[in-house]
Amino acid sequence: MNILNYISGKFVEPESGEWLEDLSPATGEKIALIPKSNHHDINKAVDAARKALPAWSSLTNLDRASWLNKIADKLESKYEEIAELESKDTGKPISLAREVDAYRSVKNFRFFAEMIRDIGVEKYEMEDATNRVIYKPVGVGALITPWNLPLYLLSWKVAPAIGMGNTVVCKPSEMTPLTADLLMKTIDEIGLPKGVVNLVHGDGIGAGSPLVSHQDVSLVSFTGGTSTGSIVAKSAASSFKKLSLELGGKNSSIIFDDCDLKNTVKGVVRSGFLNQGQVCLCGSRILVQEDIYDEFIDKFIIEVEAMKIGDPSDENTNLGALISPEHLSKVEEYIEIAKSEGGTILTGGYPSLSEKYKNGNWISPTVIADLDVDSRCSTEEIFGPVVTIHKFSTENEAIDIANNTRYGLAGSIWTSDLEKGNRVAESIHTGMIWINTWLHRDLRVPFGGVKDSGVGREGGKWSLSFFSEAMNICTKNK
Ligand code: NAD
Repeated sequence: MNILNYISGKFVEPESGEWLEDLSPATGEKIALIPKSNHHDINKAVDAARKALPAWSSLTNLDRASWLNKIADKLESKYEEIAELESKDTGKPISLAREVDAYRSVKNFRFFAEMIRDIGVEKYEMEDATNRVIYKPVGVGALITPWNLPLYLLSWKVAPAIGMGNTVVCKPSEMTPLTADLLMKTIDEIGLPKGVVNLVHGDGIGAGSPLVSHQDVSLVSFTGGTSTGSIVAKSAASSFKKLSLELGGKNSSIIFDDCDLKNTVKGVVRSGFLNQGQVCLCGSRILVQEDIYDEFIDKFIIEVEAMKIGDPSDENTNLGALISPEHLSKVEEYIEIAKSEGGTILTGGYPSLSEKYKNGNWISPTVIADLDVDSRCSTEEIFGPVVTIHKFSTENEAIDIANNTRYGLAGSIWTSDLEKGNRVAESIHTGMIWINTWLHRDLRVPFGGVKDSGVGREGGKWSLSFFSEAMNICTKNK
């Protein structure tokens, strides 16, 4: 299967004639070839987006909302296909691909259609004048996404970007191109005006970098690793592009001794290991109050070991494979670092799987105790099925540990004392905190991080604001 770029309403081969391999995380087999695009392909895609901009941006919000709904309807009819492609390309369990990836990809388009339709008139009256604020498109947007939630994150950017009247060039992760291709086919089938959405496959250096630095790109929405985000920020800043960066995380789950232990254990297992721990919001540092430390660990390990790891297409599978051999090596390296730092591996190792999976990227969920809270494994993003557990005694100590990392994306607090939960939440330097739950998403709320976890917020009205330029028109009326 050869995947193609989508430029100006046409599926096209890369100018270079070169291709990259897309490999199955579960088996190591080749799934597809994708274009190894370069600046020539990027130039064509940006040019197509620039040409489509005047007509697209002159449509009404209602018109554009109706296009978003058409995309949602068509995507919904491919619900199962989205889940299957995503599971195959990422190695995640099919049940998760259905519940999270397919569900949210459709919902993102519907949600932003609704929001855009509801944008009202914004006026500020003065004694002698009226201010009217309007929201204009920014221009051509570069949308760059990672491999962990491929269509979920791409649709989270495409919907508000084109909804607000911009045209876009997408650059999905080279490791998970399948559902990005499905979205382009969907857009093509419904007859979205050509050039409004373009997509160029390829790696970061060949395709991502020339896209970010392109002089006709006015905004960059990037989701990925912190070190890549820093390169992207430098490149975008010199030409004053509007920039949103959703980057890495190292999130704490803070467990107080007054929590509902049964629900907490379930919630913290989910937050530690969903998608094999490859979610930026995952709670990979677990802080447990001393009185329940031993009891929590006993119950936690039982739940972790009960998870079924293996065939991603099996309905009963809880954990799949890691995205690539390189990523597996990174995770393994961190486990070695943990051992050298004095950590005790409470559970881990490798799953025993059939011959079919011998070349896949498999590792069992790993729980490490006895590490210092300053240790590398406790403070650096591993982005895999590895959690560290630490003991704390007081509220302030938990806050200090949670804040003791360069990241500030998310976290969760588990307690029956909601006043304490909220007080602690406000003291944590992150963009998002859940109390007695995790990844409970309302699409209207701000999403994003502080410190090395990013710049800016997306979600709800924050997305609409990022993907537009506010303009004030002041009319003197006396
Ligand atoms: P990555 O930074 O390696 O790649 C992300 C995207 O950037 C890919 O499409 C890649 O090809 C592209 N890219 C790479 N170099 C580039 C360059 N120089 N210029 C432009 N584009 C370039 O990240 P990844 O490994 O795909 O994803 C994992 C990371 O993403 C983790 O750190 C995770 O925490 C983070 N993430 C963050 C969020 C969030 O919302 N904060 C969500 C998901 C993932």
